[in-house]
Amino acid sequence: MKIQVVESTIGQSARHQFTVSYLINDTVAIDAGCIGFMHPVARQQKLSHVLLSHSHFDHIASLPVFLENVYCPTGDPVVLCAGEETQRAVESHVFNDRIWPDLVRIAQTEAPFFSWQTMREFETFLIGDLSITPIPLDHLIPTFGFLVDDGHSAVAIVSDTAPVTQAWDFLNRQPNLNAVFLELSFPESMAGLAEHTMHLTPSTFLREQRKLERSVNWLAVHLKSTLREEILSDFSALSVSPIVVAEPGTEYSF
Ligand SMILES: [Zn+2]
Ligand SMILES: [Zn+2]
Repeated sequence: MKIQVVESTIGQSARHQFTVSYLINDTVAIDAGCIGFMHPVARQQKLSHVLLSHSHFDHIASLPVFLENVYCPTGDPVVLCAGEETQRAVESHVFNDRIWPDLVRIAQTEAPFFSWQTMREFETFLIGDLSITPIPLDHLIPTFGFLVDDGHSAVAIVSDTAPVTQAWDFLNRQPNLNAVFLELSFPESMAGLAEHTMHLTPSTFLREQRKLERSVNWLAVHLKSTLREEILSDFSALSVSPIVVAEPGTEYSF
């Protein structure tokens, strides 16, 4: 399975993840923070499904642009997989004619720009050879992490979230689990802000890691760009093992 963190910068700082999207085997995206900005547009047109973890802006910022870029009135519309709360948030706050045309109403008379597929916690579904399980996380709004399993190896994306228990209980039962992309948003000096916005710092990240009882590849994601150096220096002060930050544009194979 190939996983890529999508680039979200213009210019030199490709290592920063300003907005959030991941590609799986080039055909499925997790989140739409930056897929609408991918060049060439053929990269966008390869995507059949986009899984939305939650409706925070860094995860949906390029969704309208993406839907416009891949629109094909004579083909199958792209499938947006999301929880019910996320669907309601996107329809009320984005596709409301004020921020972007009401694509749901327009679909009553025109070829649809997308179709919804409702995701529910721990209800596994298939996209081609990939089996996807939404994992409930603990964030300001209902948010899903994901287990993606191709039958040989499985990868978990756990972001955005405060410390959780149920997700690790579930991942501990996955024999194929090979890699975990775990959020690491704030440095220790902002532990209060991390708690209020329901994210992790190096100390809570390390505590989450210890909840997984198997050895996997760990990749940190969702580092606040301007705080990256402080986060990494906090991490090395707390841990003897080095941390790997998933770099946008790099393809990871598991
Ligand atoms: Zn969030
Ligand atoms: Zn986020």
